[in-house]
Amino acid sequence: MTSSASNSRRLRRERKTIAAMIRIYCRKHHAGSKDLCDDCRSLLDYAFCRLDRCVFGEDKPTCASCPVHCYKPAMRERVREVMRFSSPWMMLYHPILTVFHFWDGRRQPPQDHPLIRKLSDRPAPSDANPSR
Ligand SMILES: [Zn+2]
Repeated sequence: MTSSASNSRRLRRERKTIAAMIRIYCRKHHAGSKDLCDDCRSLLDYAFCRLDRCVFGEDKPTCASCPVHCYKPAMRERVREVMRFSSPWMMLYHPILTVFHFWDGRRQPPQDHPLIRKLSDRPAPSDANPSR
């Protein structure tokens, strides 16, 4: 039994969601034309690229609930800014996408994934500083 069809649907949905968010952000902040400005276009390309290369592949959680932060710090800041700004507008402009996105967001990354095990093997910050 394969779930690749529904999984690729999920990935397509994530692409649509991030594209819509960046479009909203750009429209409100930048040129105001229909197309994305160069900055936002490159951010979108970057986000798509990360999605394509996600280590979890078809088991991917949404990026917000993913324990692996694969974005470069600068790009991560920008995407975060875009999401913070665009989330309320998404409800208005793309209510269906938003509902699906929250639904996907309930998915947890697979706990038996080797990467997750590696991450949880690391000592928690509280172990390093027992007095705080
Ligand atoms: Zn822009």
